[in-house]
Amino acid sequence: MTKLTELKGIGDKNAILYEKLGIRAVEDCVFYFPRDYIVYEKIAGPEEFVLDSMTAFCAVVCARPLVKRAGKLTITSVMLSCDHTAVNAVWFNMPYLSKSLNVGSTHIFRGIITAEGDHFHVRQPMIWKVEEYERLLGRINPVYALTKGLTNRAVTKTVGMAFDYLGDGYDRRLYDMHFPKDEDTLIKARESLVYDEFLAFILSLRINRSKEEYDVNSFNIIEDARCERIIEKLPYKLTNAQMRVWNEVKSDLTSKRSMRRLIQGDVGSGKTIIATLAAIMTSLSGKQSAIMAPTEILAGQHYDYISSLLKGSGCDLKVVLLTGSMTKSAADNVREMIKNNEADIIIGTHALFQEKVIYNDLALVITDEQHRFGVMQRDMLSQKNSNDSCHILVMSATPIPRTLAMILYGDLDISVIDELPAHKLPIKNAVVNESYRKKAYDFIRKEVLAHHQAYVICPLIEESEGLEAKNVSDMTKELSGYLSADGIKVSMLHGQMKASEKQKIMDSFANGDTDVLVSTTVVEVGINVPNATVMLIEDADRFGLAALHQLRGRIGRGRDQSYCIFMSGTKNERTMKRLEILKNSNDGFAIAEEDLKQRGPGDIFGIRQSGDIKFRIGDIYNDSAVLKRAANDADVILKEDPDLSDPAHAQLRRKVEEATTFSMV
Ligand code: ADP
Ligand code: MG
Repeated sequence: MTKLTELKGIGDKNAILYEKLGIRAVEDCVFYFPRDYIVYEKIAGPEEFVLDSMTAFCAVVCARPLVKRAGKLTITSVMLSCDHTAVNAVWFNMPYLSKSLNVGSTHIFRGIITAEGDHFHVRQPMIWKVEEYERLLGRINPVYALTKGLTNRAVTKTVGMAFDYLGDGYDRRLYDMHFPKDEDTLIKARESLVYDEFLAFILSLRINRSKEEYDVNSFNIIEDARCERIIEKLPYKLTNAQMRVWNEVKSDLTSKRSMRRLIQGDVGSGKTIIATLAAIMTSLSGKQSAIMAPTEILAGQHYDYISSLLKGSGCDLKVVLLTGSMTKSAADNVREMIKNNEADIIIGTHALFQEKVIYNDLALVITDEQHRFGVMQRDMLSQKNSNDSCHILVMSATPIPRTLAMILYGDLDISVIDELPAHKLPIKNAVVNESYRKKAYDFIRKEVLAHHQAYVICPLIEESEGLEAKNVSDMTKELSGYLSADGIKVSMLHGQMKASEKQKIMDSFANGDTDVLVSTTVVEVGINVPNATVMLIEDADRFGLAALHQLRGRIGRGRDQSYCIFMSGTKNERTMKRLEILKNSNDGFAIAEEDLKQRGPGDIFGIRQSGDIKFRIGDIYNDSAVLKRAANDADVILKEDPDLSDPAHAQLRRKVEEATTFSMV
């Protein structure tokens, strides 16, 4: 690996920014794939301007830019002349621009053109040198995910330099992912990389699996009437589907053949209680059970839920929480309890399978919200019992069509909770545009004043150059300003906060101190605050449908009517049609299928990864045909060479090993 600072123009200060994107070495750059692509518009003359659409035009700066302050905002405005037609350009918080906009200088400006009064306006246009823009024309240009302080242009340049630096040592397909000659090249490169990725993943899955196919155990877990009593005391009746799945799990747990079961159920179908009962039953038989969640917030929530459920149940079980952000002494203490068998039910994040955690008698491993990489993590955790083979229970809300589930979870028995709790009212949905904004805020106020709570979801954490999308930080200020007069408390939450801070905010939302939570998609997985009845999703068109469905699953969890507002400024008809799917259905399976139908194969622009099975490039829905092909090929390969020992498979073997290790990160 080569330090990023080896590249020209990247100093220590910049290197820190790149590290935020996960880029530490020059070699990492080539794997930092674009999140989208853009084809720049050809340069238009004023007679070709189309109002409200993205336009690039060449113009001369007519007068010195004006920089005004308005509160915290600085506004830079300048009068431009495009072929003798006046265009007024405005930028926010970019006072430094005025230096490069010399009177008489010519640039290319690119932004959305509007008309006000008798001349044209453009807000926040990007600026290029004429030659620079011309070089971009007629090509597919990468759009990268950014962080504050890095522009798309800077990242593009760095990635380009990385390829130059690495010389011929890189995979040509990687180059084509960033800088494709044309669309065809891009599609081919991507498909080929996706195939490799899937093939390595499936092979690693099958090879690791075949070793332990018929594992037996001597746990002697038995049914316990106290579990049934807990069920009776629940504030609701289990659905038939939940009962059926619970019976399947019970019979697995009491069997000598270790359980390997996936519980699939749409958001809100009530998977948590089944997992909880399984853990309680196991631990009542004197064994340890572990529940692993993908985020600390979710782990904390499971811990609270199970602790409260056990109170007064007559089950004398010790529940502990272990996460990465605990202080060393607290974690040491918990680990000691796990080791000497004081702890019965152990809940946590990936901290659960660290080497230094030694279990006394682990019999059941539950993974909530199964992630792709959780496949390997779950196995690492289940290997924490070296004498016996643990029962494995995996829970997922990702609505995977059966054929795909067979490939990805072929080693598991599948239980489906295909019924939502009966008393629940279906969520009411609305797809709206900016003109509805005030109404949306008023609606949130109304619901909060009726003692409910609301989520507001934004794509970004903070303002990011070149991306016209709502961010959590500004949105929180805006909403606080709007709602604080009514005593409504607005807080924000995002993934870059410290774990302890996230926990504090989540707790305050869960116990009702915070009324409105403005958040990124960190709330996507599993959070359960039944009192929240409104969700406003900003720039909804920027999310995949599966992700939107998961997000929406955070509401509609209690008895009251819930509402989801999908806000989007897009005028793109196809995008609107996609959002309509969500408006018309609350069923994850139907949404996934419809989504797949509406996207064409090779539909590569704006692909976003969906659901909780994440690959570096591939997407199980969009690339389902490639996934099936890779699965077939994996079967053929393994039939002839079950452990890939054939020298002809040396390279493939290395990739499979890589896939396995990568999965453990
Ligand atoms: P998920 O399947 O998305 O993990 P949860 O297990 O978190 O869903 O359950 C969602 C909400 O529904 C919780 O508030 C839970 O208490 C409640 N719930 C679960 N089962 C039922 C049921 N049978 N009837 C009514 N409410 C239920
Ligand atoms: Mg859940």
